[in-house]
Amino acid sequence: MISSFVTRDGSRWMPKYLSAIDGATCIGCGRCFKVCSREVMHLHGIDDVGEILGPFDGEEDDFGGELNRMIMVVDSRGRCIGCGACARVCPRDCQTHVAADILAA
Ligand code: SF4
Ligand code: SF4
Repeated sequence: MISSFVTRDGSRWMPKYLSAIDGATCIGCGRCFKVCSREVMHLHGIDDVGEILGPFDGEEDDFGGELNRMIMVVDSRGRCIGCGACARVCPRDCQTHVAADILAA
């Protein structure tokens, strides 16, 4: 069991890292991106069969007419500090977080 994570006052803190977002339920609202300070996830376009087309670069980007909708994709999971902010704002409960002690086991 990892017990070395502590807050400024010495209280025990267990990071819970974002490991995945379910593209079937994500609505691409962007709330998680807005609260994350670590650039862990980005909006991506998907086509009508759910294939990821690539990162969304701007409002005019329709991926050559293939764009069906947007989802958030965890593309830099190694940058996550496990703060949990993204989980608090997600309206669809489509994120998976893993506690640091589970990852280390
Ligand atoms: S847990 Fe915190 S650092 Fe990690 S992706 Fe969510 S908001 Fe970003
Ligand atoms: S907050 Fe939830 S529904 Fe919204 S983009 Fe992030 S993962 Fe998707």
